[in-house]
Amino acid sequence: MKDLSIIVPFFNEAESLPELHSWIVSVMEKEGYDYEIILADDGSTDSSWEVARELSAKNPRVRGISFRRNYGKSAALYEGFAAAEGEIVVTMDADLQDSPEEIPEMVRMIREDGYDIVSGWKQKRKDNALTKNLPSKLYNWAARRVTGIKLHDMNCGLKAYRSEVVKNIEVYGEMHRYIPYLAKNAGYSKIGEKPVHHE
Ligand code: UDP
Ligand code: MG
Repeated sequence: MKDLSIIVPFFNEAESLPELHSWIVSVMEKEGYDYEIILADDGSTDSSWEVARELSAKNPRVRGISFRRNYGKSAALYEGFAAAEGEIVVTMDADLQDSPEEIPEMVRMIREDGYDIVSGWKQKRKDNALTKNLPSKLYNWAARRVTGIKLHDMNCGLKAYRSEVVKNIEVYGEMHRYIPYLAKNAGYSKIGEKPVHHE
């Protein structure tokens, strides 16, 4: 079994994919993980899929999944989770806002501290205060109230899971924003968070 599966759902991210790929590879090589990268194309209309295919042709650790149309991030994650072969599954956004350098510590928290999920926490968001930060705070406050899960940032794209977790949840619709809640309902309650850099 591989150590890690890194799933990247993307929609029209042709420009960032090559840089993201090199960044992930450099961290993985440094840590010496046996890993795979799953690039899940959610019906992109730009050249993202061609870029993903070129990356997988050059790097045997890269696999691509593609949809004919845009089904949403949940669907892309769902297919990625089904395909993942790693002992630990990591998800990250393709827009270079999530840093792969956070991954080793998240992996350590799962392996050594026994977490089922480690969710990224964008403590200092590099987004507009009014249009993103305030709505995000309200959203997270409501999510904490409704789910009883004490996460600051439930919706962060950067998360790590014990493989079992992603094989036992069904992510659909807008549920990618509430995966810790799905996991808790499936019996995985050791949920932690790690402050992460947000670019
Ligand atoms: N994404 C996707 N399908 C969509 C919209 C977005 O797979 O229909 C991908 C997108 O390319 C990125 C990730 O989901 O890799 C997060 O998207 P975005 O940055 O728009 O979300 P936000 O950061 O605002 O939560
Ligand atoms: Mg984003």
